[in-house]
Amino acid sequence: MPYAEQTVTSVHRWSDQTFTLKVTRPEGFEFKNGEFVMLGLRPDGKLIPRAYSIVSANDDEQLEFLSIQVPDGPLTSQLAQVEPGNSVWINTKSTGSLTLDHIETGRNLYMIATGTGLAPFISLVRGGEVFDQYDHVVLIHTVRTVSGLAYREELESHASDKFIYLPTVTREPFEHPERGADLFRSGELFERLGLPEADPKYDRVMLCGNPAMNREMSDYLNESGWTQTNYKGTGNYTVEQAFVLQNDGSDD
Ligand SMILES: Cc1cc2nc3c(=O)[nH]c(=O)nc-3n(C[C@H](O)[C@H](O)[C@H](O)COP(=O)(O)OP(=O)(O)OC[C@H]3O[C@@H](n4cnc5c(N)ncnc54)[C@H](O)[C@@H]3O)c2cc1C
Repeated sequence: MPYAEQTVTSVHRWSDQTFTLKVTRPEGFEFKNGEFVMLGLRPDGKLIPRAYSIVSANDDEQLEFLSIQVPDGPLTSQLAQVEPGNSVWINTKSTGSLTLDHIETGRNLYMIATGTGLAPFISLVRGGEVFDQYDHVVLIHTVRTVSGLAYREELESHASDKFIYLPTVTREPFEHPERGADLFRSGELFERLGLPEADPKYDRVMLCGNPAMNREMSDYLNESGWTQTNYKGTGNYTVEQAFVLQNDGSDD
């Protein structure tokens, strides 16, 4: 696999648990908005790579990543310490199931994210093409604390007739305390936004969240007549894990 050494150009901390890294873009590296790559460090010479969604749009000069900081995480305990000028390694083979090629065009597109699962949707919003393909694009981002609402200002600044950004916070007082998945499943979301109830015939869903959210939403959609995109073909909803549980069973 082709790993390219790149240089960190800036670091921005959103909270003690999340930060954004900007790094130089490998020469000739192309990707589709919404994809992920493997990103790593070589603390003792040996590469520690992990999957990372690219926050940047594909015509950006630099690559941007939104990262969690897992206290004992092999990669992120060290990635959280990097500074401008340090090296990171990027695998220049990008992939993922959250590109516009992974869902049919339609009426309204619902992007439902938890935590760092927001990252691929920023790439799609920044890329802008998504707004040509749907009447409305609704991005729901659910986090535990208000400081977890990375990119809130930027997303609010994109608000338009076509784009609705709905942040929700579950463990601190906030104007929207519900989980995004619950708002969708109960139908309250559509009432609140003044949009027709989501219908697999016309509407589309993209999910990028913790394993439990992805599972409960996928189960709900499958039972309600939606079809997930897979190797057999393009459906009306598509899913990617925001992370994989390694061993400790924690889930957010
Ligand atoms: C397709 C894909 C895309 C991903 N994109 C991103 C991304 O854009 N940003 C990002 O920070 N991570 C992303 N991840 C997770 C990432 O690959 C690593 O797991 C993460 O960077 C932590 O690495 P680590 O070595 O420190 O800990 P790991 O050993 O990889 O993880 C330890 C534990 O930390 C928890 N955890 C890991 N990642 C997260 C997370 N993002 N949010 C909440 N809890 C987590 C889980 O409980 C996991 O078991 C993605 C994973 C996949 C599969």
